[in-house]
Amino acid sequence: MAIIIKSAEQIELIRKSCRLLSEAMGEVAKAVKPGVTGWQLDKLAETYIRDHGGVPSFLGYDGFPGSLCISVNEAVVHGVPTDKPYVEGDIISVDCGVFMNNYHGDMAYTFGIGNVKEETQQLLRVTKQSLLLGIAQASAGKRTGDIGFAVQEFCEKKNPYKCVRELVGHGLGTELHEDPQVPNYGHKGQGAKLPENCVIAIEPMVNLGTKNVVTLRDKWTVVTQDGKPSAHFEHTIWVKQNAPELLTTFEFIEAAIQANDALVKI
Ligand code: MG
Ligand code: MG
Repeated sequence: MAIIIKSAEQIELIRKSCRLLSEAMGEVAKAVKPGVTGWQLDKLAETYIRDHGGVPSFLGYDGFPGSLCISVNEAVVHGVPTDKPYVEGDIISVDCGVFMNNYHGDMAYTFGIGNVKEETQQLLRVTKQSLLLGIAQASAGKRTGDIGFAVQEFCEKKNPYKCVRELVGHGLGTELHEDPQVPNYGHKGQGAKLPENCVIAIEPMVNLGTKNVVTLRDKWTVVTQDGKPSAHFEHTIWVKQNAPELLTTFEFIEAAIQANDALVKI
């Protein structure tokens, strides 16, 4: 499948889905604290998205049972929400998609609750920074390897972490997952060339220990093989000449984190 180029009108529709998604993630950020469960966050997000004219992209996707993927501590991605209350020291990766007007948006953020170990807080900071470094490479004419190289170089060479290999970012539009694949590793100048006006999700998944991951028997939740923590941050990006443009924003999440005493300020 070729990379699908979007019209200006289509990009504006994706921007609307991303805006609602960013606001919904802000609502989630207000609610994350000890004692809260994944299913509570899931219902809160689903209600907010539906009340504002969207549909949760993930609910029913390949049979996924939730509106949010919530991946706690050693879980990397694709975690199914649970009824287990969060406790101090947990890191909670929340991944969400919104489908509206026939177009998807996709984003993720990892929250730290209370007394998160310093080494894990640093993992969160580095993973988030690596996302921004990857995004900086996402202008027209660049290649997916330029993005992957920037992410991997920062996480693995400048810091002692490992990027997950099995799971990657992706194009999106009318489908949640379109070409190209956007790995979080690679070589400069290699991989698919990014055309002007494509839309991609960049999403580093970064582990404190081994890069290796396994899937739990629930057939969804991907965890680190060594049980060490993993972080995940994601934005949806419009690839343009000269500079990328973020279609999702962390502004609502970060305002909520500032006001939420239970969350680590990374
Ligand atoms: Mg994604
Ligand atoms: Mg996502």
